Amino acid sequence: MEEPSKEVIQATEDAVAKPEADAKEDAESQEIAGAGDAATNKKVQDKKRSMGEKLGLTYEEVIEKGYSLNRLKKLVVQQKYNDEKPERRAAQKEKKKSRKLENKLKGVTQSRTNFYTMKDSPNKTPVAISLSFMKYMNEKETRKLLKQVHRCYSLNRRSSSPCQFYLTSCTGAVREKLDAAQPGLSNWDVNFCEESYHEVFKEYKEKNNLVFLSSDSPNVLPEVDEFAKTNGQVAYVIGGLVDHNVYKGLTLGLATEGSIRHAKLPIDEYISLSSSKVLTVNHVFELMLSVSSGNSWPEAFTKVIPKRKMLQNKKNLTAATNDASSSGLSD
Ligand code: SAH
Repeated sequence: MEEPSKEVIQATEDAVAKPEADAKEDAESQEIAGAGDAATNKKVQDKKRSMGEKLGLTYEEVIEKGYSLNRLKKLVVQQKYNDEKPERRAAQKEKKKSRKLENKLKGVTQSRTNFYTMKDSPNKTPVAISLSFMKYMNEKETRKLLKQVHRCYSLNRRSSSPCQFYLTSCTGAVREKLDAAQPGLSNWDVNFCEESYHEVFKEYKEKNNLVFLSSDSPNVLPEVDEFAKTNGQVAYVIGGLVDHNVYKGLTLGLATEGSIRHAKLPIDEYISLSSSKVLTVNHVFELMLSVSSGNSWPEAFTKVIPKRKMLQNKKNLTAATNDASSSGLSD
């Protein structure tokens, strides 16, 4: 499946979610105007006009919508990306076709060299997403969660060391929603479980080896060598929840109530984030996949967390970036 470039994702996110930046920039242009720099002001107006035209908007409409120059630039990038989509798709299709033909001529059969099943994987760590939080989400948030679950699946599928991926509390209604969002679900290499994580990981729980991941936990996940040592003996649960942290402390409360161990990611130990330390389900999953595959936390953070979200690396992550190619993850 084609995925937009990082720039486009960034542009799209910024274009829809940064009114404060616009306000700041507009204030700056007003300051320019106040300073009497008419030439600069005119330049900004001209640029806004020409970019507005590219978007099919008159200058008046641009002003009415309160678009800053920055926002306009991002919208133009986004539009260009959308406009070029059909050509890009066609080129990709063509490339795939000729590669197939080339392989056929060479006598190479189409084998999915990057396809590893959970069963054959050396990584025995169970990582579950609990789908028991549906009632806390509206339609849009549920859709987002389902997309994130799909992302986790494809990351695991493409990994050369997939973890043991579980979807718990995947009951009738939830399964239907997943099916509707992702046809072909029944072929997924995933453990679909109707039961809750309490039942699925009963034995782990009894041995105190079930860990609920929660950003609110005071405990920190161990270093990577611990994952290697306990390979498969400790199961981890991620809350399948997109709530913009409205329900802060929800999973920590549940883990405490259910006498289950809990822990947070070692974010403070390694990185400073420009945004919240509550990560998305897919980022948490990818980090867990990475460390359970043998990568260190610095390697995992470098690979998974978008650079724009990292304010600084507390420990030297540069070396980790260089090593990341040996990460065992194939995207
Ligand atoms: N308010 C929710 C946050 C949901 S974020 C809560 O109470 O958990 C979705 C899930 O990702 C969380 O339930 C948790 O399992 C995991 N998660 C997000 N950020 C995390 C972090 N920094 N450390 C550990 N787990 C995290």
